[in-house]
Amino acid sequence: MKPYILLTPGPLTTTETVKEAMMTDWCTWDEDYNVHIVEEIRNSLVALSSRHPDEYTSILLQGSGTYCVEAVIGSTIKPGDKLLILSNGAYGDRMGNIAEYHGIDYDLLAFDETEQISVSYVDDYLAHNADITHVAIVHCETTTGILNPLKDIAHIVKVYGKRLIVDAMSSFGGIPIDLQELGVDFMISSANKCIQGVPGFGFIIARKSELMRCRGVSKSLSLDIYDQWETMEKGHGKWRFTSPTHVVRAFKQAMEELTEEGGVTARYKRYCENHDVLVNGMRTLGFETLLPDEVQSPIITSFLYPHKGFDFKSFYVQLKEKGFVIYPGKISKADTFRIGNIGDVYPDDFVRLIETIRGCRY
Ligand SMILES: *Cc1c(COP(=O)(O)O)cnc(C)c1O
Repeated sequence: MKPYILLTPGPLTTTETVKEAMMTDWCTWDEDYNVHIVEEIRNSLVALSSRHPDEYTSILLQGSGTYCVEAVIGSTIKPGDKLLILSNGAYGDRMGNIAEYHGIDYDLLAFDETEQISVSYVDDYLAHNADITHVAIVHCETTTGILNPLKDIAHIVKVYGKRLIVDAMSSFGGIPIDLQELGVDFMISSANKCIQGVPGFGFIIARKSELMRCRGVSKSLSLDIYDQWETMEKGHGKWRFTSPTHVVRAFKQAMEELTEEGGVTARYKRYCENHDVLVNGMRTLGFETLLPDEVQSPIITSFLYPHKGFDFKSFYVQLKEKGFVIYPGKISKADTFRIGNIGDVYPDDFVRLIETIRGCRY
C-alpha cells in the first residue's frame, strides 16, 4: 500500500498497473521491446500531439526532462542563429543557463514570475530584432503554476517566421495542445509528468523538416537529437545507448491508461476538478493563491504562507503523516508552498486533503 500520495510536480502518484508493468525484464534488441513497445509509444505520442500530425516525428531520450531541453537547444541552434528565450520562472531561466553552457548566441526576456509572458512585448521585440531565428517558451511554468499564453505567442512567432521551441514538460498530456495548429517546431516533455509514467526518460516531438536541419549541429554525442532519432527511426525503435527498459514499458502502460481515461480532454477535465476542489477548499480555510485565477494552470498551485510565523516544515510533516506529500515553493519574492493536481489523484483525494489541513496545527 502507498504510504502517501504525491501532490507534487513530478514524479507523481502512478497507478498500481503502471508500477506492475515494470516487473518484466526486456532485451533492447528484441522486437518485443523495440518494435512493439518503443515504436508504438513513438507513434502514439505523435498522434497525441495534433489532429494533423503528419509533419511530426518523436524522439525518446534517456535522462530527466532537462536533458531533453538541453538536447533540443544544443541540436537546433547553429552558429549564426540566435535564440530568444522568454522566461517567467526557473525553467525559462534554466534554458538561459543551457544556452550559456553551450556558448549559444541568445537573448533572455525576463518577466515577473507572477505575470504571463507579454504577447505585445514579444511582438515589439521581434519587430526590432531581425537576427532572432528561434524562440523558446515554457508553456506551464511549474515554478509558480502560471500558464503562459502559448497560442498567442506562437501566433506572433510564426508571423515573424521564427522557429518555435516549447517546453511543455508539465502540461503535455494534461492540457490539450495542437502542435501543428500552433506551428510548434520542437516540443519537449517527460515520462513522469501528465502522461503519468515513472521518471527516467523524456521525449521530443519535432517537425520532421526542422529535425532534418539538426544533423551535425550538436556538440554533445549523447544529447544529439538527430542522431538519436536516426537510430530509432532506422532501427525501428532502437535506442543508441542503454534505454531505461522498465521505465519505457511502464510509460506504454501509462499511455494506454490515458486513452482509457478518455484522452487528454478527459484528463484535463479531471485536473481542473482537482484544482477547483483544492483551491475552493484552501480558500475556505483562509489560504490565498499566489496567482490570480485568470493565469493559473490546473497543474500545480502556489499558496502564500497564511501568516508570518508559518512553519512549512511542520505543516509538511503533519500532512505526510496523514498520507499527503506537498511541495515547497520556488520563488524568492514571496513565501509560498505548492500543491500539485496531476498524477493518479482525484477530486476525492483533495476533499480528504482539505479535511486533513483543517485538522492541522499551522
Ligand atoms: C519538470 C520540468 C522540467 C524538467 O525538469 P527535470 O527535473 O529535469 O525533470 C522542465 N521544465 C518544466 C516546466 C518542468 O515542469
